[in-house]
Amino acid sequence: MFKHKILLTEEQIQRRVLEIADRLNLDYADRTLDIVCVLKGGIVFLSDLIRLLHIPVRIHFLRISSYGNETQNAGTLNLHFSYVADLENRHVLLLEDILDTGITMDYLLKHLTEQKPASMKICVLLDKPYRRKVDIRAEYVGFEIPDHFVIGYGLDYQELGRNLRYLAILDPSE
Ligand code: 5GP
Ligand code: MG
Repeated sequence: MFKHKILLTEEQIQRRVLEIADRLNLDYADRTLDIVCVLKGGIVFLSDLIRLLHIPVRIHFLRISSYGNETQNAGTLNLHFSYVADLENRHVLLLEDILDTGITMDYLLKHLTEQKPASMKICVLLDKPYRRKVDIRAEYVGFEIPDHFVIGYGLDYQELGRNLRYLAILDPSE
């Protein structure tokens, strides 16, 4: 495994996921929520979060890819695969692992709002606000983190590290 240093422990993450779930249970009380999860990084967060929700939820997945080197967003995005049901008049929560430059979210928001949802909000596990290039804000944020490349809890480096139960900073030597 790559050299890394723990940033957020399993306990810290679980506590925060529960707080977000509590807020969603209140904010979407008496509604059905359609969660659109961005693959692959969002899956661990999604699976922990939905099991703490008491409201009815539907889940959808889409996959996006960017080209360029591996730790920076190149700014060119491709909607690889999408299996998103009709979102018209639905309350949609776009769920991502991490909001970095905001380019991915901006692109997804533009595509998904074409479907005319009743509402659309963003939920991310991690936010790197200093890296933002597009003015995007998430309504639900797990943690604000400094500008380091992180792995674990769904996030990968070269497809490895998603299964770590904690979040860790990748050692720069990697
Ligand atoms: P944005 O378009 O906001 O720059 O890019 C967001 C995407 O870049 C995230 O969904 C994630 O796939 C990737 N990303 C950004 N920062 C990190 C990071 O620190 N670690 C990992 N594993 N992926 C990251
Ligand atoms: Mg991603």
